Amino acid sequence: MSDNGDAKGVREIRINPIVPTESVLVATARGMRPKKAEEKVQRDQRAHVDTCPFCRGNEERTPPAIKAWPDSGDWDVRIVPNLYPVLGDDSSTNNIAFGLQQVIDGYGRHEVIIDHPNHGIIIHEMSEEHLATLLGIYQQRMAELYASDPRLKYVLVFKNFGPAAGASIPHTHSQIIATPVVPENVQNEVTHSRQHAQKFGQCIFCSLIDEALTYEATIYDRDSGEIRRKINVGQYVIERGERFVAIKPFASRFEWEIHILPLQHEADFLQASSEDIADFARVLKRTMARLDKVVGGVQFNFFLHSLPHGEEFNNCQDSYHWHLEICPRTSIPTGFELGSGLFVSTVSPEEAAEALRNADID
Ligand SMILES: [Zn+2]
Ligand SMILES: [Zn+2]
Ligand SMILES: [Zn+2]
Repeated sequence: MSDNGDAKGVREIRINPIVPTESVLVATARGMRPKKAEEKVQRDQRAHVDTCPFCRGNEERTPPAIKAWPDSGDWDVRIVPNLYPVLGDDSSTNNIAFGLQQVIDGYGRHEVIIDHPNHGIIIHEMSEEHLATLLGIYQQRMAELYASDPRLKYVLVFKNFGPAAGASIPHTHSQIIATPVVPENVQNEVTHSRQHAQKFGQCIFCSLIDEALTYEATIYDRDSGEIRRKINVGQYVIERGERFVAIKPFASRFEWEIHILPLQHEADFLQASSEDIADFARVLKRTMARLDKVVGGVQFNFFLHSLPHGEEFNNCQDSYHWHLEICPRTSIPTGFELGSGLFVSTVSPEEAAEALRNADID
């Protein structure tokens, strides 16, 4: 608690600036253990596993590939249908609506992207070139799915790493789910950022980037005159590339949560150029290396938030800003969190950012 000079730590409710209906309780008081720590994963570092359906040479253990890169010879990245899709083809039964129980067909697409032929490799161990290929494939497949059916309102790309994060197969992979509804988390960001832009005439994500890069302030206690909080230039910045920045959100739901955003305003991930993708890959690799250095073996999810497709979102081009959210799972959510929707963070976001920024990865 260096900046606060307060052994009691921070205990405050922080409002998410983008979605003000969401808030986070930051409670860092020493000795306070409101949450149980999540297990770290035993790294499976094997390059090849004979029984793994995602390893090269075991292609017959998955349904036929939807696509592979390169499309002949040894693949580097491969997309296959999910064997246990949460959404799938149209069901033949009519959906029955009863009273308040409204239902829409669970129509959609669920695919698995095998990130790399190497079984146990993790993100920051992949080459920048490979990561750029992988991110480019995310982009290409998203575009194809949007184009395939106008009923698909959102294509979510995400990754689960570790059993607590929902990964059932240890071989490195990502997933794509195309849904006939816009997920609530994305819709909330779209709606609130549009409202912000209507009020203030600018994209709130751009404003947050500007603040993170330039803001400096000291907040004093009115009675005692003691320093309550110091905000330093770059306090929330973890990694900066030519075109991307990795930021620790001020109101982080997860202790080690990090967001990566393009520095220049861009609403839709599909608009990113290949130069953008190359820098995105570099910033992602370095950010994941920092995370591994500071909290090694951490289980995590990451997911892309991008402007949904459809006419109703055309007027959000200036107010929405795509990003990747990395959510390490270092503690187990409690009944309090699930019941209230108020996430509890036991690490101060400022200290987490400092530790990540100072990690020696070169
Ligand atoms: Zn494997
Ligand atoms: Zn913006
Ligand atoms: Zn988001």
